[in-house]
Amino acid sequence: TAKNLQPHVIILPTPGMGHLIPLTELAKRLVSHHGFTVTFTVPSESYSPVKAQKLVLDSLPSSIDHMFLSPVDLTDLPADVKPETWISYTVTRSLPSLSDSFKLITSTHRVVAFVVDLFGCDAFDVAKEFNVKPYIFFPSNAMFLSLFLQLPKLDQDYTCEYIDVPEPIRIPGCVPINGIDLFDPAQDKKNEAYRWILHHAERYKLAEGIMVNSFNDLEPGPIEALKGGECGNPPVYPVGPLIRTGDVGGVSDPSGCLKWLDDQPVGSVLFVSFGSVGTLSSEQMTELALGLEMSEKRFLWVARSPYDKVATAAFLNSESIKDPLDFLPEGFLERTNKQGLVVPSWAPQVQVLSHASTGGFLTHCGWNSTLESVVHGVPLIAWPLFAEQKMNAVMLEDSKVALRPKPNEHGIIGREEISRIVKGLMAGEEGMHTRNRVKELKSAATRALEENGSSAKSLEKLTNLWKT
Ligand code: UDP
Repeated sequence: TAKNLQPHVIILPTPGMGHLIPLTELAKRLVSHHGFTVTFTVPSESYSPVKAQKLVLDSLPSSIDHMFLSPVDLTDLPADVKPETWISYTVTRSLPSLSDSFKLITSTHRVVAFVVDLFGCDAFDVAKEFNVKPYIFFPSNAMFLSLFLQLPKLDQDYTCEYIDVPEPIRIPGCVPINGIDLFDPAQDKKNEAYRWILHHAERYKLAEGIMVNSFNDLEPGPIEALKGGECGNPPVYPVGPLIRTGDVGGVSDPSGCLKWLDDQPVGSVLFVSFGSVGTLSSEQMTELALGLEMSEKRFLWVARSPYDKVATAAFLNSESIKDPLDFLPEGFLERTNKQGLVVPSWAPQVQVLSHASTGGFLTHCGWNSTLESVVHGVPLIAWPLFAEQKMNAVMLEDSKVALRPKPNEHGIIGREEISRIVKGLMAGEEGMHTRNRVKELKSAATRALEENGSSAKSLEKLTNLWKT
């Protein structure tokens, strides 16, 4: 068969919807703005949400193809293995199958680049075999990327755990950060997950370039430092904010929250949600409920059952096992009946954030949620839970787009503190400044992706390289 001469990109998303979704948005842009075709090669193992991935992949335009690699066996891994570890094994054990796919795709297409996300660079070896240049798409922010790139150096500089480092850790161009706020795998050097992260960080140097889902106006310091190669890094291309467009798996609003929002005053509602998997302890859930009630501000809360009451073995499972509303304080729903709406497990987040009635977002600071909020000009309350979210919270507070509540000495954010911060964001002076700052960034985000915008230009620079 004759070879299709249109430039083609192969993309490998590692397990996790937070990796797949921004990569599909990148693919859409490569197709619509730059004349590429794309194939997703998707590794998986038995307990990953193949169904959710399939829904997303099936909804893509016809010039974006996908193939599932042979599922790998991870049953030999211990039950308490960290996500970074099993994700990494999923990639390494998929390499033979990826090689077969490369053989197939390169025989019919002019493959000009191979793109992986933050945990995928073990697949670079396969691309090298087929003379295809490897790239990373980093689906988070520039500060986290800088930390990732600096990790081998930090590992040498500090022999102790990062939490025991007495001074804040300095990363070029970034706000200094306390060890305790570094991402999860860096909290336990003895765990295998940390060794994997170090391994990936070392391999980042093998990339021909790294795209990052951020933009100049949001993170001028870290991006400047990365562009200057201050972390010993390959060329970095800020291409964000790439956020989910369209609804994943058809419009769905089973709880009627959009309809409820229609009846609320403009900018009056605080949206409360902890991403696709985040859960609180039952004690913390009670404080949050009573704090929201005490604030007397309107709220729309996507509640999930507390982790200490329900087995949460299923990482990436978006459905709570029991009805989360059963865990709310006695009488709470009746008392707040006019003030707020609690919906179980899931809400159409992008539509909620773009709704005129939404005036604030209490978020776990997942990077997709953060960008979705900034793009829609909604100011944040930063409530990080896991992964790199604490770092995101530090960065967002420093950039003045978020207020951050303080936990008490037991690590719980109490009802008074919640009420204070909610009132502060929705009605206070601090909230007004935060809102204005986010509105500025909203315009900057739009400009970044327009023709001649900073992110559009940096993607164009890269795609021009790929075409020649
Ligand atoms: N999301 C949603 N409805 C929900 C919870 C999450 O649509 O009730 C979407 C949200 O819009 C975002 C993604 O799921 O695109 C969550 O990604 P993020 O990086 O914020 O957090 P993660 O779920 O990976 O912790």
